[in-house]
Amino acid sequence: MSVPLLRWGLVLLVCLLAPAGFAKDVKVRKAKAPGPRLVRVHGGHRMHRDAAAAFELMATEARSAGQSLLITSAWRSYQQQRYLWRLYRKGRGPKAARPGRSNHNRGLAVDLVVGNDLESPTYAWLAGNACRFGFRRTVASEPWHWEYRPRSTPAPQDGEDCLGQPLEIEPEPAPAVVRTDAS
Ligand SMILES: [Zn+2]
Repeated sequence: MSVPLLRWGLVLLVCLLAPAGFAKDVKVRKAKAPGPRLVRVHGGHRMHRDAAAAFELMATEARSAGQSLLITSAWRSYQQQRYLWRLYRKGRGPKAARPGRSNHNRGLAVDLVVGNDLESPTYAWLAGNACRFGFRRTVASEPWHWEYRPRSTPAPQDGEDCLGQPLEIEPEPAPAVVRTDAS
């Protein structure tokens, strides 16, 4: 092989290999990026601290309305998500997003026990109230999956719930009739 040809061959080789090396570098840096700031919520599950604070407020209010918000899944590690995604791909598990693509990996999604249908009291409570705490549904086929998205979850209008239904207002007790003897 002539010297110029060899030189061009080397240049070509460097051009081909450099992007691969760069991509590898980016991957390593991504993997080392700090994860979400997680705190524990009940049941040993973990969530992003902002989502957790909002969830605890929501759960407390739900409890006072007679509803328990039980978590089945909250934050998931990349590895856990990969495991679920692979099961889904093999047709052996429920729908799962690609690892890194799920808001469960960011600690912003929570799966709740909502009963078997959309008529269940727990689901009805969530549908009517979750938006006030920044939570909303994002997956049409998963009524149990709620995400903390405060910026894109509008608060209800005054006097309405999250579905636009008028709030039930406790009837005011009838004023006591004060009888005065005028005579
Ligand atoms: Zn989910």
